[in-house]
Amino acid sequence: MEKVSALIARLSVSETLAMAQKSADLKASGVDVISLSLGEPDFNTPTHIKEAAKKAIDNNYSFYTPVPGYLSLREAICKKLKQENNLDYVPSQIVCSNGAKQAVSNALLAVVDVDDEVIIPTPCWVSYFEMVKLANGISVEIKAGIENDYKITPKQLEEAITPKTKAMLFCSPSNPTGSIYSKEELAGLVEVLKNHPQVIVISDEIYEHINYAGHHESIAQFDEMKDRTVIVNGVSKAYAMTGWRLGWMAAPLWIAKAATKLQGQYTSGCSSIAQKAAEAAYNGGLETVYEMRENFERRRDLIVELASDIEGFKLHKPEGAFYLFPDCSHYFGKSYEGGTINDSGDLAMYLLEEAHVAAVGGAAFGAPNNIRFSYATSDDNIKEAMKRVKNALNKLA
Ligand code: PMP
Ligand code: GLU
Repeated sequence: MEKVSALIARLSVSETLAMAQKSADLKASGVDVISLSLGEPDFNTPTHIKEAAKKAIDNNYSFYTPVPGYLSLREAICKKLKQENNLDYVPSQIVCSNGAKQAVSNALLAVVDVDDEVIIPTPCWVSYFEMVKLANGISVEIKAGIENDYKITPKQLEEAITPKTKAMLFCSPSNPTGSIYSKEELAGLVEVLKNHPQVIVISDEIYEHINYAGHHESIAQFDEMKDRTVIVNGVSKAYAMTGWRLGWMAAPLWIAKAATKLQGQYTSGCSSIAQKAAEAAYNGGLETVYEMRENFERRRDLIVELASDIEGFKLHKPEGAFYLFPDCSHYFGKSYEGGTINDSGDLAMYLLEEAHVAAVGGAAFGAPNNIRFSYATSDDNIKEAMKRVKNALNKLA
């Protein structure tokens, strides 16, 4: 009898990956699909990083790696944290993993016990709720609306904390909203967290460098927070290295040790080649990062301009990451050729089938009125996609 565990049965499929697969399948069948579903830079990995990886192969970096990563990589990450974020870490506080995805999961599994509560400001990335499930915890959502720039307030945070709160997991710059917490806004949250020392903060900073508003601010910069913050970051977004699978956490030593213990039984150290590539990325300067960011910013302006012309979208201008996340509830209840759009999942399917544009419905991000478009693609694709989306939406009545 084919029967998966209760844990897997409870787990949802990743909506971002599912939609990317649907659009890839449609494309393979010959349909001209423009995919704005998956959030990944469309640039190639910079040459000096690829060269380092080739060299690593030639130099026989082919053996098991230390579970938390090569010391030289962890040193490079500590140097990055000092130079870019003015944060002091030592290599024993760094644990490298298979993408930032595993780093978030490691952090949760390291601290969450059965039925512990994990506060998650929403809209949030689709995998957070599921990772909390994997850790047997309970997600406690704090809903942040467009009126507050999709950011939570200190008052909301205070109201959400209970004696069962073990962690807060948030992301700035945010996937999917592109919102960024300023230093002052973080300070407001810290004022609340100060009174609840049992709460660990998992700060997902994977979009650190895709920031059009200014310098990245980490919550770990506050003295009260450093010893209970887990920074999660990696090379996927900043260095266009999503397929290399290299992320990391910078954490209090006890959490880094716990994550290492977990990884030691679960996946071991991550790829030797990817680690040498990441080391070259962190030692190689930020020139390519800034170049990519300039392109993303231009595309952000372009998609915002084009989407502003779509009457039924309620827009919020993203300050970072590479997603547009309009409220599309205006279209709910409308129909086309017998089918009715009941929610943003239906709208995403309608756009895929009618406009051949792949986007992701907002429900999996905790925002059922919204739809996510990734603009990490060419200007031409963005122009054509928004034209198609507009035409398809105009057909709904
Ligand atoms: N956090 C957020 C908010 C993301 O959007 C993603 C998706 N790339 C990740 C973490 C995971 O990134 P990685 O590719 O490094 O696993
Ligand atoms: N994080 C990216 C996204 O949100 C990649 C897919 C995933 O892992 O969710 O689209």
